[in-house]
Amino acid sequence: MLTRSLLISLLMPVVAMTQSAIEPGGVKTAHIEPLRLGQMQVWTLKDGEIPLEASLLKGLAPADARRMLGGKDAAVTPVNAYLVRLGGKTVLVDTGIGKNPEVDAGHLMERLAEAGVAPTDIDLIVITHYHFDHIGGLLKADGSRAFPKAKLLVPRREQAFWLGEPTTLPERLRERIPKLKALFAVYEKEGAFGTFEDGAELLPGLRAIAAHGHTGGHTVYAFSSEGRELWCLGDLMHFGAVQFERPEVGVSFDADGEQAIRIRQELFRKAAQSKAVLAGAHLPRLVRIEAKGSGYSTVPVVP
Ligand SMILES: [Zn+2]
Repeated sequence: MLTRSLLISLLMPVVAMTQSAIEPGGVKTAHIEPLRLGQMQVWTLKDGEIPLEASLLKGLAPADARRMLGGKDAAVTPVNAYLVRLGGKTVLVDTGIGKNPEVDAGHLMERLAEAGVAPTDIDLIVITHYHFDHIGGLLKADGSRAFPKAKLLVPRREQAFWLGEPTTLPERLRERIPKLKALFAVYEKEGAFGTFEDGAELLPGLRAIAAHGHTGGHTVYAFSSEGRELWCLGDLMHFGAVQFERPEVGVSFDADGEQAIRIRQELFRKAAQSKAVLAGAHLPRLVRIEAKGSGYSTVPVVP
């Protein structure tokens, strides 16, 4: 979750382009190569960038935060969605911020094109949680579905956290309810919306892992193929430069800070054991992690 005050950066997004070509019409097009894990193909789709201020960190002395952020008072982090092709299905995890006049974001469709995928190719969209930087790309500017053939599946617990009746949502978040209802109604009225329980297997090789804490139903998605694992972390963490080394450090906008820390520690432990490739919504690169002291060090994974 990000407050409006954080969305002040107009930094141009930097996209990892591994190859480019001149099309017959003379137009230069970028092409993003996927990471291959077993039979999986994985693309990082960077929708935009946002600055996260060091003051958001909880449980870390300001001087340590500054040092770990390379002497800066904020970390500029990407906002990533992930595209996975597995078993003949094309799955999108989260959808970025979408077009927003306050920030340079909403580049998801360009990134999809660079991956060689059309919006109509998406079979399934899964959402880690309902913060606006994860659901903002679900609709087009005209209010219709951005992914007309996709089924949208969300964690039932996340749906209940935000839209349960009677509401148990903290007062400060209740103003978002009408907008969320309207957004999901677009998919619902076309029979393209569904919920699932914690731990559900959504496709062969795709299961949902309950990772509540950041929000009431925050969910991590684990893809697997031939013994290789990819975990789309959503907002299990925000600051790659801090929270791998210090998983007990939280951020002030976690709905339940203690629960968020517990699940982060548990999933990091399992990820180190399974050598899962970790794909964070706000991490600049794909990594694996290894235990180091009381935390973890990262090993970059490149396509
Ligand atoms: Zn986020």
